[in-house]
Amino acid sequence: MRPEILFSLFKPITSLKGVGPRITTLIEKIAGSQIVDLCWHLPFALNDRRYAPNIADAQPGVIATLTVTVLAHKKPANRRMPYKVTCGDDNGKIDLVFFNAHEDYLQKNLPVNEIRVISGKLETFGNGLQMTHPDHIGTLAEIDQLKAVEAVYPLTAGLNLKTITKAVNGALDQVPDLTEWIDPSLMAREKWLEWKPALITAHNPKSEEDLAHNSDARTRLAYDELLANQLALAIMRREMKNIKGRAYLGNGHLYKSISLHLPFQLTNAQTIALAEISADMRSETRMLRLLQGDVGSGKTVVALLAMATAIEAGCQTVLMAPTEVLARQHLATIAPLAEKVGIEVVALTGRDKGKPRQLILDKLASGEAKIAIGTHALFQNGISFNNLGFAVIDEQHRFGVHQRLQLAAKGTGVDVLVMTATPIPRTLMLTAYGDMDVSRLMEKPIGRKPIDTRVLNIQRMDDVVQGIGRSLQQGAKVFWVCPLVEESEKFDLAAAEDRHVHLSQVFGSQVGLIHGRMKAAEKDAAMVAFINGDVKVLVATTVIEVGVDVPDATVMVIEHAERFGLAQLHQLRGRIGRGDAESNCLLLYAQPLSETAKARLKIMRETEDGFVIAEEDLKLRGAGELLGTRQSGIAEFRMADLTSHSELLAIARDDAALFLQRDPHLESERGQAIRTLLYLFNCDSAVLNLRSG
Ligand code: ADP
Ligand code: MG
Repeated sequence: MRPEILFSLFKPITSLKGVGPRITTLIEKIAGSQIVDLCWHLPFALNDRRYAPNIADAQPGVIATLTVTVLAHKKPANRRMPYKVTCGDDNGKIDLVFFNAHEDYLQKNLPVNEIRVISGKLETFGNGLQMTHPDHIGTLAEIDQLKAVEAVYPLTAGLNLKTITKAVNGALDQVPDLTEWIDPSLMAREKWLEWKPALITAHNPKSEEDLAHNSDARTRLAYDELLANQLALAIMRREMKNIKGRAYLGNGHLYKSISLHLPFQLTNAQTIALAEISADMRSETRMLRLLQGDVGSGKTVVALLAMATAIEAGCQTVLMAPTEVLARQHLATIAPLAEKVGIEVVALTGRDKGKPRQLILDKLASGEAKIAIGTHALFQNGISFNNLGFAVIDEQHRFGVHQRLQLAAKGTGVDVLVMTATPIPRTLMLTAYGDMDVSRLMEKPIGRKPIDTRVLNIQRMDDVVQGIGRSLQQGAKVFWVCPLVEESEKFDLAAAEDRHVHLSQVFGSQVGLIHGRMKAAEKDAAMVAFINGDVKVLVATTVIEVGVDVPDATVMVIEHAERFGLAQLHQLRGRIGRGDAESNCLLLYAQPLSETAKARLKIMRETEDGFVIAEEDLKLRGAGELLGTRQSGIAEFRMADLTSHSELLAIARDDAALFLQRDPHLESERGQAIRTLLYLFNCDSAVLNLRSG
């Protein structure tokens, strides 16, 4: 399916010279496993070797390229001492210093009385000048090659610059010339290079400016990436809408009786969202709507009532959650209400096996089950519905665009409601969802009290524990979130287990533990114990981050809050303040605090508004710090940087829309080029969708 011209770019990196199994693993870690990934692996700094002074004038502390005569080799007296080679020019001397030296190699490359060009960082040692492990040693013939500006690539332990540079250059050798896909007038206006020259230029910076996101070459490459993203989203949206929907006309009886069983009144925001959703359902076009609401804004009830409407119209519905815990949680909320009005609910997750699983599948196939709640297990092959008409995807950001497509394939004309708690800023919305219809639950249910958030030094742990003791006496339930240590669950776990032991010593058996490594049944048991009050302090790794609802939990302690991103802190804090009691959030930090971490904690103390937090997050997040983004599942870009390229994104969106209007099936010459662009950025499914659509 992929055009032949791209084949060379999608070969594995192992096919490159000098990239063996060990290097492959390292490169995969930082760039990816295909040659194209190396093309996107852009330099972040440069070594300028053009400084070529006489030894007498040379400034220490910078990289220099010197032309010298080799004078003498000084072997070390013992193994711990370095091997030194003294060199000189007309007016000075310098020592080249080698630890763990291979004498043969040095004798061969630095023969006495010969002229050599050496390049590396100059240092002072005593009164003299030295260079430890020169980066390059060459002959006079190679001087131009050495006296150059050299790109510095992101590295990882075990991978050196020479190796990655060689691999990248090998990858760039495979780069084909591609037909231009950018609109000619835009190319002319921006004076952009064509794709291949832009790529080569981006890999060969001549100055610091060339490394900036807004350098011409990088801007062009970023635009390509954004254009592919916007085209893919626009195509998917169009194709999904093109599949004729069905008009679901409910008579309101289930909706009404569920409403009567609710222990509260719907908020205005919920009512409006439901009206928007049912308008979509009544219409013949397919629904594709995003329900965006901060944590605790009451999305689940909206989902249930929308499903009820679909069921009234005679079809089956699903609610898909990103994790097992969440799926179970939805089940616990929805099943009792559904049962009261005679709707059959089943749950299906990866855990269900054998006979019970078959029973569930039968109910789905026969249409007996009207609501299916589960994880992505619901959409595996071999699972069929009798009459699936409405799907709710909760916390979409945990799913990718690809899953969304899979779902689209499952039922014909299924209406889709995507729910997200990530308050994504407008610009980022575009990259994650394109121009989806949006309903927002801006207001929280009435009666919620603001959360009192405090920021404390972790050294005051004893005070914190005492304070928790007092809260427990007043009947509080406490979430205690343990730090993210590195990016490894193993370490997270150790920290959480230690804290569990510590708190159990103080508070006894009312302390529980939940973490990602537990079996699903153990997790459920831990949650249930916390919900029903057997456990009053639940020590957790970030598994509780998404969606868990325990309305009477009123205290949230987050250890090493400085290690979490803003979005994550906000999600975590959203676990409390859901009932009508006062809630407290304690953010414990350890010194030293970076400026960004300080700013994050300050924002958390000042506001609970998810949209304000999201905007601040975007501002604070430097180009490199993508933690929050990764966690929120917003499309990850290799070259585009949303803080500096948001205007570019707007152009890409308009260009994508305009182009698809003119050439809906990508048949023109530019259309063909755009197909290649989509494949280049792995948007294969968009192209495939296009064919079938
Ligand atoms: P979200 O999924 O948006 O984070 P939930 O749907 O889990 O929020 O709702 C959070 C809590 O608020 C639940 O306990 C739910 O029963 C309750 N709730 C939902 N709507 C209302 C409302 N209109 N009034 C009072 N409580 C509500
Ligand atoms: Mg929820």
